Amino acid sequence: MSIFKELGLNDEIANALADLGYKEPTQIQASAIPQIIKSTDDLKAFAQTGTGKTAAFSLPILQLLDTNSNQAQAIILSPTRELAVQIGNNIREFAKYQKGVKVATVYGGASIEDQIRQIKRGAQIIVGTPGRTCDLIKRRALNLGQIQWLVLDEADEMLNMGFKEELDKILDATPDSKQTMLFSATFPKEVESIARNYMTNPVEITSGEKNKATENVSHEYYIVNDRSRYLALKRIADVNPDIYSIIFCRTRRETQEVADKLIKDGYSAEALHGDLSQAQRDSVMQKFRKKHVQILVATDVAARGLDVTELTHVINHKLPDQIESYTHRSGRTGRAGKKGISIALVTRREKGKLFPIEKIIGRKFKEGKIPTGEEICQIQLMKLIDKVKDIDVSDTQINEFLPSINEKLEGMDRDELIKRFVSLEFNTFLNYYKNAPDLNNESAGRDRDERGRREVDENMSRFFINIGRRDGLRPANLIGLINDQGITNNLQIGQIEILDSFSFFEVDKAFTEDTVASFQDDKAEFNGRTVNVEITEKKRSGRSGGGGGRSRGRREGGRDGGRERNDRGGDRRRSPRSDGDRGDRGAGAKFGRNRSDRPDRSDRGGENRGGDNREFSSRRRRRD
Ligand code: AMP
Repeated sequence: MSIFKELGLNDEIANALADLGYKEPTQIQASAIPQIIKSTDDLKAFAQTGTGKTAAFSLPILQLLDTNSNQAQAIILSPTRELAVQIGNNIREFAKYQKGVKVATVYGGASIEDQIRQIKRGAQIIVGTPGRTCDLIKRRALNLGQIQWLVLDEADEMLNMGFKEELDKILDATPDSKQTMLFSATFPKEVESIARNYMTNPVEITSGEKNKATENVSHEYYIVNDRSRYLALKRIADVNPDIYSIIFCRTRRETQEVADKLIKDGYSAEALHGDLSQAQRDSVMQKFRKKHVQILVATDVAARGLDVTELTHVINHKLPDQIESYTHRSGRTGRAGKKGISIALVTRREKGKLFPIEKIIGRKFKEGKIPTGEEICQIQLMKLIDKVKDIDVSDTQINEFLPSINEKLEGMDRDELIKRFVSLEFNTFLNYYKNAPDLNNESAGRDRDERGRREVDENMSRFFINIGRRDGLRPANLIGLINDQGITNNLQIGQIEILDSFSFFEVDKAFTEDTVASFQDDKAEFNGRTVNVEITEKKRSGRSGGGGGRSRGRREGGRDGGRERNDRGGDRRRSPRSDGDRGDRGAGAKFGRNRSDRPDRSDRGGENRGGDNREFSSRRRRRD
């Protein structure tokens, strides 16, 4: 008998699973399926993404569903559109031999009328994102009054994305008699509070230890500084020629910037974030799934719906604001029995953030050394030689050219020939990395010899202000003066530099325009002096405090040109080209309050009808 039948599932379901190649249940399936079939108790399940949790909750629902009724009997809530679609499709596959099962998938950014029609056709299972589900309830198009099962999938992510209010409303529309099932990879206090408020004595099951990382993932950190962060990223990609990776960034802007640089430098990369249209996001995800793109630079939210099992690396370009998100990020690799590496690029200052993560994942980070140019060249060269060895040679086509080739190459011995062919392919790499500095020393050295200097924070805009020490200005006064302008609640203020007759300060880049506007028209005064504020270049002052230009350090390599981009991944030739535009662009170029600096809540966009661009100040980004 099929193991799935032993769990209490019927022949139709077991056959569908056999078609899908499911031979035996995963750990979470083995625990959850019989539990849900035999008991209506609420359920709290600790399950990482990729553990087979979709089948764990949907198979017992399919087993128990009343297919003769056209009432909505199950509502499954998921944080993103992509995940909802994936769950809906999975359920249809599981139910392919069951007659009369109807599933409606509802999410923002798509026609609500079509979705209403799906529901009206008598869908017994609704899979939805919280925003759209709420809208449908409000429109009375969705009646959850007869619901028997409510599943909160990736509950932590839904709360992270600020869906608490929607969840409350949806839960209020369901009967008390329902069975609530909460699946979450992490259990921060917000999820625990949902469990406390909405579940009665839930049974707890787990597919591993609560909040723990999977065994297959090793965790590494690399010490960088803000100058070497991108270079380190490139070196990690270069030393792993077959890399298939998601690089996680905190904001849409950071995501786009990193992706743009990688693309410009010839890497097979794409950006995925909430500023892209749904069609663009779908296309990027499709390319990545098909491995036509090797590196996906993404925000946490936008990457949620992406189901890929073979990632070699997850790279935290910057650590996430919420430490629980690290578990989600790293859980994207090491799936389906494969090994994976999760890398965090951290400055010495940020290193302390690893300790709470280690506590949560129950693992220690290992310090990695940023590969040297030599190591990279060695690996890339061997990769090239392997390719030469493995290449399919079409004798019939080549043979006819051999005599003239031989004639041209006459007099060259084997070694000479090898050198020339390798150089043809490899000179770019060699040249690029010829005098490349050891970035490990750069980071450490910089920390030592620039102790008095400030790190440039890419998330801050720098301002000149026309008052200084002589006007009696102290840092506390300046903070007070900035706060008095009422730019926003809890405005993040960065470095302050008070000089004799003028000063500099930094504020969260997202509020650049608001800061300028609030100081306009000579409104502000300090000790009788009219205050004047202007955006200034992000120059770094030395210890002298004179506001002098900062040392830009060595630039790594130059733009080599000559390599073309293609979208086919696989055999694509990547080259470590220029280090991209590392110039500190004046904040003025970034005028305008750009939502891209906020944590990406792309899926909200679709959820809120009529472009309701609510701000989510409660999740303000912290400074590093
Ligand atoms: P999920 O955690 O539900 O997103 O599932 C992760 C991946 O594992 C999906 O590609 C599923 O199709 C696959 N999967 C789930 N359960 C099993 C199983 N019992 N055997 C083989 N593959 C499975």
